[in-house]
Amino acid sequence: MSIIGQTEDGKRRWVFAQSVKGRFQKLHRISGWILMAILLGTPWINIGGQPVLRMDLAGRRLFVVGATFTPHDAIFIVLILLSLAFGLFFFTSLYGRMWCGYACPQTVFLEELIRPIEKLIQGDRSARKQLASKRWSGEWWRKQLAVWAIYLALAVGLSLSLMGFFVDPRLLWTGGASTAAYGLTTFFAGTLFLDFAWFREQFCIYLCPYARFQGALTDDHSLNVMYRVSVSEPRATSRQRKAEPEVQHGACIDCKKCVVVCPTGIDIRDGFQLECIGCARCVDACTEVMLKVDNQPSLVQYSSVAAQQGQPSKKLRPRTFAYGGLLTALSAAFFILLAGRHPIEANLNRMPGTLYTVDADGWVRNTFFLQVTNNSGAEGPVPVQVDLRGLEGAELVMPSLELSSTESTRIPVVVRMPPSNDADRTRSFELELSTDFDRVTVGGTFKSGTSEVN
Ligand code: SF4
Ligand code: SF4
Repeated sequence: MSIIGQTEDGKRRWVFAQSVKGRFQKLHRISGWILMAILLGTPWINIGGQPVLRMDLAGRRLFVVGATFTPHDAIFIVLILLSLAFGLFFFTSLYGRMWCGYACPQTVFLEELIRPIEKLIQGDRSARKQLASKRWSGEWWRKQLAVWAIYLALAVGLSLSLMGFFVDPRLLWTGGASTAAYGLTTFFAGTLFLDFAWFREQFCIYLCPYARFQGALTDDHSLNVMYRVSVSEPRATSRQRKAEPEVQHGACIDCKKCVVVCPTGIDIRDGFQLECIGCARCVDACTEVMLKVDNQPSLVQYSSVAAQQGQPSKKLRPRTFAYGGLLTALSAAFFILLAGRHPIEANLNRMPGTLYTVDADGWVRNTFFLQVTNNSGAEGPVPVQVDLRGLEGAELVMPSLELSSTESTRIPVVVRMPPSNDADRTRSFELELSTDFDRVTVGGTFKSGTSEVN
């Protein structure tokens, strides 16, 4: 028995996917170029002086549409990642492998960049198969080196764009970034080049983790690319039809067009397979065939197992409720926490072991520790003004406070009150911390003893 992607003797079965035209390929082209424009353009866009989306690894900051998250905001990063994961589960349960077919970078790069270049230089399927049979010949080297040179240039350009989500692209593209950044770019470029030139569909078949848990995310009502067995079988070529006029054949003329266009080299007529990336190349191929032969719809369509069995397709099912509910809850938690989030965080705690002391001048002293964290992405040190509120006549003694982005510090703070007979033994006060972009208050209590305050 042969395994998908392998020949009978266990060697790789090279896929020479034939080019195809059709409405789903147009959709691919549109979504693919929009996504590539987002990939190339986003790293260059700033909002309020901050990148619209960047994970600044060196500065340990994540910029997302004007908000800056630091390691102290781990909960936000966890919520973002969980929301993305459950968003993917939710859409997979409804629409099958739309991600693979239309949005996965692997599919987008191969469909919109690599296959058109390959076709331009080496020709379509039969020309490429012929070229492969002349391996190591002068023509093979010429055409192979030409596509490899372009793949390498694309791999470097795409890797630099990808790194723009981690390092300022103005530095990256002008040679001003760190050695580590260029090291990572080289690694990404090497990986992409290997993928374009050699690995390709093997990634989807053997490596992609998302493909592995498709079975757990979809059910009989999920949308998938499916062969319409009821109208198509038993299949027969025109020669077989002529030879057996008494047999009632199905609509499939066994032209194998749906097979030769498949980028993962599978035959969708064998039923749903995990290797199918839902690209709908076979749908467009069969549409073209059926228009010429029978003027009937494609025998391969987006459908569901339930629809194929004549049952009504259900959009809302327990799993869509579960994934959708979790997605909604996680997104809501993210926005609620975000609404109450301050770029400056502060805590005030009494110094352990002391309630109050009386200074030589008779004033009562309470000592605290003030913990302040700057969670903003602001460049340069941020001066923090601290004011005491709620204790008339009191004095605040503390060093000046300045914090860089993501910096956290703990400083001693002394609150002193003049002697007073009226004073309650415990009185509340607030410290107000202000910067150019935020204002927060922390509460504390001032303790005194009547015997000392007189
Ligand atoms: S079977 Fe059709 S939809 Fe699936 S990967 Fe092949 S061409 Fe794409
Ligand atoms: S393209 Fe359509 S008609 Fe041709 S083999 Fe595939 S399903 Fe049958």
